Amino acid sequence: MKENMKSIVILGGGTAGWITANLIAFHWKDRDIDITLVESPDIGIIGVGEGSTPPLKIFLELIGLDESDWMGRCEATYKVGITFRDWSTRPGFSEYFHPFLCQPDEFSVPAFFHNSFLRRKGVDLDGHPSQFFLAWELAKARLAPVAPPNFPFEMNYGYHFDSAMLGEFLQDWAAKRGVKYRQATVTDAVLDEQGYIDYLKTDSEETIKADFYVDSTGFRSQLLQQKLGVPFDSCEDVLFNDSAVVFPTEPEENPTPQTISTALKYGWVWKIPLTSRFGNGYVYSSKYVDDDDAEMELREHLGLMDSDIEARKLKFKVGRVREHWAKNCLAVGLSQGFIEPLEATALDMVQETVARFIEAANKGNFTDQYRDEFNQRISKRFDAVRDYIVCHYRINTRTDTEYWLDAGSRGKVSNSLRELLAAWVSGKNITDELERQNLDAYFPSVSWNCLLGGKGIYPTDEQVRPGNELAHQYDLEKISSYLKGCALNFKPHQEQLRVIRKVA
Ligand code: FAD
Repeated sequence: MKENMKSIVILGGGTAGWITANLIAFHWKDRDIDITLVESPDIGIIGVGEGSTPPLKIFLELIGLDESDWMGRCEATYKVGITFRDWSTRPGFSEYFHPFLCQPDEFSVPAFFHNSFLRRKGVDLDGHPSQFFLAWELAKARLAPVAPPNFPFEMNYGYHFDSAMLGEFLQDWAAKRGVKYRQATVTDAVLDEQGYIDYLKTDSEETIKADFYVDSTGFRSQLLQQKLGVPFDSCEDVLFNDSAVVFPTEPEENPTPQTISTALKYGWVWKIPLTSRFGNGYVYSSKYVDDDDAEMELREHLGLMDSDIEARKLKFKVGRVREHWAKNCLAVGLSQGFIEPLEATALDMVQETVARFIEAANKGNFTDQYRDEFNQRISKRFDAVRDYIVCHYRINTRTDTEYWLDAGSRGKVSNSLRELLAAWVSGKNITDELERQNLDAYFPSVSWNCLLGGKGIYPTDEQVRPGNELAHQYDLEKISSYLKGCALNFKPHQEQLRVIRKVA
């Protein structure tokens, strides 16, 4: 990295490239750096990735966007969490909700922790998570999570959107902030004598030169993996999905503001509401089912057996690079790695990578001083997300196919996850365990409690004893009416989406 860095080339114009362009243009607006995004006219974007986590809202607000600016143009809807369906066969736990936590939950979450903790110790209390969160009330009643001005709590939510449209929108926004755009297919990168990228060569024999390069070329990872040879550590031993088949279906008038993830025979299906359609995608392992059978299973699941809608089929690889920033190149997006999309964390990783890179570059006065620290930090985040996703599979109780049997046992889970699971089943406080492992910044304790409690990793009804001896028991009816009362403040999802479009 050069202390007097004057130019950056971002190679790749998928969502990762355009988020990077906007963040760099925003944070370094006073540094007189020339930013150019180069995109191949011949290589398409991946074109999936329709669900976000709440940090996307923070990014969009940071770069100066209101919901009315972008949501209508990207066919976006609100997202308050994810329902997981048919992952567990434990009675009473065939379905649970993983919410985005918001401020009103501060009054009800202590009851969830209390019940969940004592249920693990064999006391007959209801530890099923969904009922303790406002997001679940909103999802059930199909209400948008946008609070009226007099609602005294902060809300927290993400979005669903058409990823290609979001990319186009962010491209326009970046252009207004001075980011240049060039179409060219890069065929090679030429290194200088120290192994840094000197310049790029294109298929029309042109050269493109910059002080620093961002590799956002998707799974190709043209610069970081292919040219600089940074190794890729796969995690396919524990996460063996490598394929997806995708279909749109008709939209609903007032869709529930959540993603639904339903386990099928060889993986799981997402159902994501957009204003113009539902996005549906079956994520599966080609080692257990061939692509045509997977398509048939999805068609059957969606009731589309007679439909002539064409399916899109995709392949992907799971894992991450060993270094995200090497020499004068930063990989962002699929080029740095991918953990399957079960919790829709990929764009969050993009934002986090760019934000931490900017922080490290600023702190080191545009030198490589904090590069190793940065790389470790991002890798740790990847690994923490990987473990949370691996846990979904590890604790499944389906026995209908080899796929699910293997998912529960094959491969070696990390020590971190093993210790976390051991803490849970031995009745220890897992908030303490997450803090001990310094993992609470990734998926917080509530998320782990939802995952483990939601899939019913508890003593069964036959194994528990009554809770009569307890000094304190929470009144679940009161909690329910409190959350229902809060929900009265919110508009139907569709109505809020109309308001947003009218403001625009
Ligand atoms: P791409 O979209 O592949 O873009 C690559 C870009 O690089 C293109 O512009 C291409 O033209 C350019 N390029 C490539 N090679 C060259 C070259 N040689 N010269 C010039 N240009 C080049 N994420 C979420 O956050 N939520 C989700 O719900 C979600 N679901 C997903 C489901 C599936 C099945 C998959 C596979 C991914 C999902 N993701 C999700 C991840 C998400 O799709 C990506 O993180 C996101 O789209 C960013 O992709 P990208 O920009 O890294 O790569």
